[in-house]
Amino acid sequence: MSKLILNKLKKKASGIIEGRVLKTALILEVRKWPSSTIIEIDLHLPTAVMDGWNEVNYMKCRVADFTYRDYTPSGWDAETQTCTLYIDIDHSGPGTAWAKSLGKGDEINYLSIKTTSQTPVNTSAVICLGDESSLGHLLAMQQLATPAARFSGAVLMGNEHNRSLFTEYFKTPLKPVLRTDVFGHHSLTEWLLQQSYHLENTIFCLTGNSTMVTQLRKILKQQGYSHNQIKAQGFWY
Ligand SMILES: Cc1cc2nc3c(=O)[nH]c(=O)nc-3n(C[C@H](O)[C@H](O)[C@H](O)COP(=O)(O)OP(=O)(O)OC[C@H]3O[C@@H](n4cnc5c(N)ncnc54)[C@H](O)[C@@H]3O)c2cc1C
Repeated sequence: MSKLILNKLKKKASGIIEGRVLKTALILEVRKWPSSTIIEIDLHLPTAVMDGWNEVNYMKCRVADFTYRDYTPSGWDAETQTCTLYIDIDHSGPGTAWAKSLGKGDEINYLSIKTTSQTPVNTSAVICLGDESSLGHLLAMQQLATPAARFSGAVLMGNEHNRSLFTEYFKTPLKPVLRTDVFGHHSLTEWLLQQSYHLENTIFCLTGNSTMVTQLRKILKQQGYSHNQIKAQGFWY
């Protein structure tokens, strides 16, 4: 059998399998930030059971043929089965192209909703640090952590207007921090060193680009925080 026919058969078979396992969500609203660098998407997930969500989850969304990207549901409401995605679209990629193409009333497909295992249990203070791609993750952690634990932290934002919008519109103790270096670890380190956190009963959650996450992890270890106090997950390279 020729390679071309074999590839066509493989594609067809994958398509059939994909069609059986994919789940559907309905887009209730799409809000593009004025800077056009972030899109908020409100979703209704009719088959998701959100009651048991006690760790930050992520959805494997189908963004093109046989192409999937991970995005974080935040602000979820178990009763209405709704949530919001915050998608960083300030770069080129199939995920960005997909997010830009979406509108109210569209349906999206996702393969699964899985846990990142990041959870605020057994601690009195949660400090989250991340970049724009982890905005949803930081807000989801706030939802889980409060009011039982103290919640604080910072989110990198390269765009001046985004920083003031964030402060104006979001009810959050998270501080928007100006990104002065490509991956943002210098900016966040500088911010971190200005804070006075206590070593005991504190956990740090680091999410976003892998360079930033790795560098911040190193700094926190140097400051005396143990392995168990630092939950880190690189989102992209
Ligand atoms: C558990 C998990 C949860 C995530 N949740 C979210 C979320 O809620 N919102 C969100 O926006 N992202 C989230 N991400 C990150 C997202 O899945 C990746 O950024 C993804 O690579 C974007 O796909 P893309 O097709 O746009 O770019 P890709 O095709 O994957 O990458 C194209 C190029 O862009 C670069 N790139 C990728 N992402 C970024 C970025 N954010 N900024 C600058 N350059 C980038 C890549 O390094 C590559 O060079 C999450 C990732 C994980 C692992």
